[in-house]
Amino acid sequence: MQDQRTIRERLEGDLRAMLSRHAKISGHLRNEDREIPLDWPEMAQFMENDEVLEALEARTRERMEELSRALHRLDEGTYGTCGSCGNQISAERLDVIPTTPVCADCV
Ligand SMILES: [Zn+2]
Repeated sequence: MQDQRTIRERLEGDLRAMLSRHAKISGHLRNEDREIPLDWPEMAQFMENDEVLEALEARTRERMEELSRALHRLDEGTYGTCGSCGNQISAERLDVIPTTPVCADCV
């Protein structure tokens, strides 16, 4: 298993990346200076783009929650312990999904 500092750096780096992505997306979504096309096909495209951005924003927010929960577990010293059965989560699994709160048996 990677040492805790490496894990923390990875989680914090991801969280910072998600934060800036989130800021970018929500800034774009709430930009009221955008010119809204009144022509139907363009308006449809415009709304579709917003829906894509909203879905992306929601996913980004979920990722941020997972990351900060994982960092919290690192702080508490419970990182790497399955929140369901209490067994150790395998290093391979943590390497692939560093934010996972449960072992492969409990998914
Ligand atoms: Zn488990």
